[in-house]
This record gives sequence, C-alpha cells and structure tokens, in this order.
Amino acid sequence: MPRSFVREARKHVGPKRERIRPIIERLALEHQDAGIALTFRSPLELLVSVMLSAQTTDVNVNRVTATLFEKYHGPEDYLAVPQEELERDIYATGFFRQKAKSLRGTMRMLIEEFDGEVPSTLDELVRLPGVARKTANVVSAELGHSEGIVVDTHVRRLSQRLGLTKQEDPVKIERDLMRLVPREDWARFPHLLIWHGRRICDARRPRCEDCVLNDLCPSSRV
Ligand code: SF4
Repeated sequence: MPRSFVREARKHVGPKRERIRPIIERLALEHQDAGIALTFRSPLELLVSVMLSAQTTDVNVNRVTATLFEKYHGPEDYLAVPQEELERDIYATGFFRQKAKSLRGTMRMLIEEFDGEVPSTLDELVRLPGVARKTANVVSAELGHSEGIVVDTHVRRLSQRLGLTKQEDPVKIERDLMRLVPREDWARFPHLLIWHGRRICDARRPRCEDCVLNDLCPSSRV
C-alpha cells in the first residue's frame, strides 16, 4: 500500500490514543473465547508448554504434553531421566535437543533457587535457562502478574496495520504498546490480536470487509 495513502488513512481514523479503547472493546466482543491455547494444569506445566511452543504450533505442543505431563510431574522428574530420554519425549515439538537442555537447566534452577516453584516476576523468569522475554511475558501474564505485552508475529502485524506502532523490532513494538494499552488489558490484548489475526486479519489476505475494526484501521481496504 503506498505510504501517502496510509498517511491519509491515519488522519482519517484519528489518533491511536482515541482508537485503542474501542479497538479493545470490539475485539473483546468479537473474540470472547480469546485466550491461551496451550493446555496446562499448573504453573510448571504452563512454563514447560510455553518453552516447548517455540517454532511450533500450540496444537502440536498440546499433543506432546498430553503424554509428557503424565510422566513428568515435578521439576525433579525432568532431571531423573537421561537427557536423551527427555529428548525423545519432546521430539515432536522440534528443536528437541536445545529444548531438552533448556528444560533441564530450568528445572535445576527452579529446585536450587526457587524451592521447586515457578516464579511469577519477569526478572526472575528471564533468569531461567532458555526463557526469553516473550516466554516470560506469556507465563507471568497467565499467572496474573503481567509486566509487559507479548509480541508475536500476529501482534506485530496487527499493531502495525492498526497504526499502533511504526516499529519492526518486537522490543520496541512492546514499548509502544505498553505506553498505549491500559495496564489492566496487558494480559488479554495480545490474545485478542492473535485471535483476530488468525480469524480475520490474515497475513496475506486480510478480510477487511468482515472486520469489526475496519473504520478504525488505517490499513483497511474497505
Ligand atoms: S481492517 Fe483489514 S487490515 Fe485492518 S485490522 Fe481489519 S482485517 Fe486487518
């Protein structure tokens, strides 16, 4: 889309500060089921699922963890088997060697420094081996301690299309969103964008004619 057109469209839809609330409200109505798609029963299962979800789908992770969590209950269980056995058990999630190494390092640190419990603050979570900011953000948000906004490929694309950021780098996009999105919505906002991205605002073919945001979106083709 030509830049001049996007500039004009931005003027037409109004400033992002005025659009953010209606954007959140409409998406919340449209995607009432928006939430994390991973299946877990405890903070530890949440952490493991999110760590396994790198470079694969949530459906795939759920398929693997359905049997994994029958065998591995506490952090010590991940250390009680040889690394090769854990690798086999998570093989289908891809990058299984690195993931098994990260899981074992994380479990060791949980036992040694956190009494076997999953911490909920971002600063503590990012200390765990293999846990980057995005993983930490997802976990802390699900544990009710959002300190940031998860930026994945959908959040990035939709934030840009909706004119909420001009940045490309996920850390800078997150910073823009944290300035804009009310704090109480930090946890649900990425879920709303992710589900809207999957259902309506497709990367290649956005269905602007069916989009509840088309009058608030500078990239709308309607
Ligand atoms: S109007 Fe189109 S580009 Fe904008 S959010 Fe909706 S589907 Fe995406």
